[in-house]
Amino acid sequence: MRSVLISTYEMGRQPFGLASAAAWLREAGWSVTSIDAAKDNARLRDATLVSADLIAFHLPMHTATRLAEPIIRKARQLNAGARICAFGLYAPLNAEWLRSLGVDDLLGGEFEAALAAIARKLVAGPKDPPYIRLSSTSRPGPFGPGAQLPRLRFLVPDRTGLPPLSKYATLQMPDGWRRLVGYTEASRGCRHLCRHCPVVPIYNGQFRVVQPDVVLADVAAQVAAGAGHITFGDPDFFNGPTHAMRLVCALHAAHPSMSYDVTIKIEHLLRHRDLLPRLADTGCAFVTSAVESIDDRVLAILEKGHTRADFVEAVALCRGARLTLVPTFVAFHPWLTLESFCELLDAIAGLGLIDHVAPIQLAIRLLVPEGSRLLELDEMRRHVGRFDPATLTYRWSHPDPRVDELHREVTAIVGMRLNANRRAVFSEIRSLARERAGLPPAADRTRPARDRATVPYLNEPWYC
Ligand code: SF4
Repeated sequence: MRSVLISTYEMGRQPFGLASAAAWLREAGWSVTSIDAAKDNARLRDATLVSADLIAFHLPMHTATRLAEPIIRKARQLNAGARICAFGLYAPLNAEWLRSLGVDDLLGGEFEAALAAIARKLVAGPKDPPYIRLSSTSRPGPFGPGAQLPRLRFLVPDRTGLPPLSKYATLQMPDGWRRLVGYTEASRGCRHLCRHCPVVPIYNGQFRVVQPDVVLADVAAQVAAGAGHITFGDPDFFNGPTHAMRLVCALHAAHPSMSYDVTIKIEHLLRHRDLLPRLADTGCAFVTSAVESIDDRVLAILEKGHTRADFVEAVALCRGARLTLVPTFVAFHPWLTLESFCELLDAIAGLGLIDHVAPIQLAIRLLVPEGSRLLELDEMRRHVGRFDPATLTYRWSHPDPRVDELHREVTAIVGMRLNANRRAVFSEIRSLARERAGLPPAADRTRPARDRATVPYLNEPWYC
């Protein structure tokens, strides 16, 4: 039996989800062709789709889902008899739309065992009814309200057939060196319930660990393939701090020259401040943190669990621990004003974080996908229109059209200059924003552009 696993976009990383699914299907006795269409579209041949018994798409994020549409349509058109599955966070969120494209099965979090079970049943004979697994308490599905996601015994991801790491994002070091980057996950899901987060409708406050031996074997395989740096793609690395610290200590002991990066929320950086020096000591190149906003009212709406003061404290803590903090933002949302956008830029400059912030972060607009907890709030509902199947989001417009216009202008500045000098782009955006807000030029002008950022960063810009 032949399967084809397809990834369409994973932020410039070699896809863990695809490699994990490949391991489970191969263990079930299937032949697997893994295709990363973002990096190696040439392998997506008609003959490959036509000969497959099972075609599965990994949809971990919004952009990946939109990019998958034409490929799903083509797969269904070429191969009416194939079982087509979609798995990952955005599969159940867009169930109706995916079904209209011809997808049979929709698997959300912790999908591997269910995918392997579908494959085994296909071998056994007659087609089973389509399988939909959701975990949200507000959605129908076989797992029902309050359902627990399974706790899997993971297999070591099988990266056979995926493009080499040299095709993916690299880590740009301040000294000009670049490192090949591997990607793994030590946990999935999240204990928290931030309103704007796509993890929440699927995991609903649950998180699941990947067994340490599996993670370390996956890291070792990627080191053997040339990786000098590992990105941990966990939604939040400190959902399980003991598990996390055991892993990075073991990683450092086995590969002392390796660096890594992780994502940790501000609340966890404060709560586990004692662990920060150990992250630095074990090779942590940077910590990404979804700060989202510096406006406490907006942070409360998003239920982020931190305040502006917490963010400022986290910056100081990371600096004291020799850790590079990389904040990300939802820069444009319905509660922004022209003045508060300028205030955000002033705060970034004032905290010495201009080099830390990727230019695309200054143009990120709040996404409201199907299932978003934001839709529970009047503050959000009064701004949104109908669900737009073309963008797979609820469209919203700002009550002040000048803010939407500023968003268009900032997006145009960032445009194709996603990897341009960060200081130059920041300075341009700041000048524009202050002009639009009727404010004088910033008193603390951004220092002149340098050739390179002063902090390590991944050179693949990303979208949600
Ligand atoms: S902490 Fe991060 S991953 Fe967890 S719910 Fe909030 S935004 Fe999502």
